Formats: sequence, C-alpha cells, structure tokens
Amino acid sequence: MIVILHANTDQDSDSYRETISFLEQLPDITFKQHVVQGSEQKLTEIYLIGDTHKVDQEAVESLDAVDRVIRISQEYRILGRHRDEQRAIGFTYNGVDFNQDNLHVFAGLCAVDKPESVEMVMRELNNLGQICTRMGAYKPRTNPYSFQGHGKKCLPYVFELAGKYEIKVIAMEVTHESYIDEISECLERMGRPTGVMLQVGTRNTQNFELLKAIGRQTEYPVLFKRGYGVTLNESLNAAEYLASSGNSKVIFCLRGMHSIFGSPHRNMVDFAQVPVVKRLTRMPVCIDPSHSVGSREPSADSILDLIHAAAQGVIAGANMILVDFHPDPANALVDGPQALLMDELAPFLEDMLLCQQSYQRRREIWAQG
Ligand code: PEP
Ligand code: MN
Repeated sequence: MIVILHANTDQDSDSYRETISFLEQLPDITFKQHVVQGSEQKLTEIYLIGDTHKVDQEAVESLDAVDRVIRISQEYRILGRHRDEQRAIGFTYNGVDFNQDNLHVFAGLCAVDKPESVEMVMRELNNLGQICTRMGAYKPRTNPYSFQGHGKKCLPYVFELAGKYEIKVIAMEVTHESYIDEISECLERMGRPTGVMLQVGTRNTQNFELLKAIGRQTEYPVLFKRGYGVTLNESLNAAEYLASSGNSKVIFCLRGMHSIFGSPHRNMVDFAQVPVVKRLTRMPVCIDPSHSVGSREPSADSILDLIHAAAQGVIAGANMILVDFHPDPANALVDGPQALLMDELAPFLEDMLLCQQSYQRRREIWAQG
C-alpha cells in the first residue's frame, strides 16, 4: 500500500505528524518514506510494509495530509504503475525532461579513446542540435586483458568538451560505486559544465550491492540496462533496487538478449517489449540498437540492420536511443565494428524523427478506433 501525501507537505506540519502517528500505531505494519523533489514540487510517498489488508484505507485517506492511497502488487512498488495514472512519470535532470512521451538520442563513443574523438563527436552533436551523448570511461570487458577504459583520466577533457559543446547529459557506465565519487569530484572541480546519467551495464543488472550504492545517491539519474540472461521480471525487480534505495530517476534500457537464436545479430533484439515496460512501470524506456545488433551489416535495402532495429524501437514508443558512433571506427578501442559514422548522424536523426512522428500518428489512429 502506498500513502501519497499532498504535494509539498512539510515534515514539520501538524498534518504530517498526525499521519505519521496514525501509521505508527497500525499493528504489524512498518513503513518507509520516499521523497521525490521535482522541479516545482516535493512529493512524499509512504510505503506500508506488512499485512496491509487489515488497514482501513478510508481512515488513512481521511487524514489531512493524505492525498490518496494506492493498493499495490508486491512487485516494482516504487517504479511500477499499479493502475494509478496520476503518479508522475519520468523526471527532469540538468534541464532535460525524461518521460514516457518524448525521445532523446544519446549518440556517442562506446569507449572514450582520445580527446580528438570526443571533440569530433561532440562538435557534430552540437551542430545538429543534440544535447545528450554517451561516453564510456569505465568499460566492463569480457576479457581481463582487453582495454578497460581510461577511467578517471579522461573525465576532465570529456566534461570540458561537453561544456564547450553544450552537452547537458552524458550517459556513462559505472562498474564500481567508487567511480561515482570520481565523477562527482571531477564535475565539482570543473564547475559542473555538464551532467551525467550513471549507466548500469547488462553484466551488472543483478549486482545488488552496486545497485543499492547507486540508488543511495539521488543526484544522478540512472540508465539501467536489462540483464542479457535473466527474465524481464527479474530485470525490473533489479531496477527496483535503485528506487528502494532512494533513487527513482531511472530509465530502463532494452539491449537485446544473449541467445544463439539472435545470430547473426550479436543479441536477440527485444524492442517489441518497449510497450510492455511502459505498461508495467513508470520508467521512460531506452533502446540500444548498437549492442543489440552488434554489426554494420546492411540489409538488401541498403539500410543497416542496426538502424532498422532502432526504427522498430522508436516506432513502438521508445523514449531514448543509446547508440555508438565513432569518427574512425577502424581505430576504436571498443566495439568499432558496430559504430555508426559521423556522416551517418544527420540521416540517423532524420530517420528517428520520422519514426517518432509515425509513432505519434499511430497513437492517433488507435485513439480514434
Ligand atoms: C555499453 O553500453 O557500453 C555496454 C557495455 O552495454 P551492455 O552493458 O548493454 O553490454
Ligand atoms: Mn560497447
């Protein structure tokens, strides 16, 4: 059961105190608060844990501070929808809105290699009006002898160039909680020229201690990747670890499933589940066509499979695209074979805009039906 207080309820007010005393005297019930500070208002949700069937919903609803009460299923308590259409969807970070209706493209380097590559990508993004990118500094590699990313060494030039080219949000994977501090220290030292969205990689989907650590901070939103070898339900439960630890600014990313049946693609593309995640949860949904398809193989129509896959995700309502680009893929240190080229960025954006418009038109067709 979730008790939702009126927006901006002050924790020093009598009505708040009255609510807490009421909840405290409920037998066999404990509770946990979750406060979301939006750009305009502060929302307080109180999660009741225990045998809530015996709780008198009307009595709770009659308390002055209480806006409404929702009975929820056991799963995805915070991130789930629970048939309540009024709870906020998405969040704003560094001036950028993320929700289940809009679309942001995060085109950029799988792994940062040198300042020149970062600058070439960011300059082009800026020319094309883009304010988000991806830049891998900490890479989770299958082989311990492969390049592991430049780590904190590259952060100063990545953040400086992001500021120069007006990039507002960089998706950056963290493979250990200490890297959050490295990112914060560098951003702070440089006067916060840009923002960071912490990425949880598919290999860490069920690294619960990492999830709890990322969830304990609320400064940075999180791009959470679906696990490539666990069910959707297991991945959504894992995402809930972030929220239950305190951070519900989470975007859920589909990136394909490990399966021999995906061959010749690197993974089995799972973008048909974009609407499923939107139905089950309040998270904006991202697709990663690069790590799903994993190659630049063109189809008979000369459009790359990877771009077809991206189009399929967007036409089904995806809210974010994470996609690898590189100015010189032959010399990329990670995932060169799947990178799109800089002169493919403009047509890629045009194609995705068309798919987004088609999705909007599809909604209109079915709203009339
Ligand atoms: C990535 O996006 O750089 C990445 C490693 O992806 P995944 O965790 O989906 O393999
Ligand atoms: Mn990669």
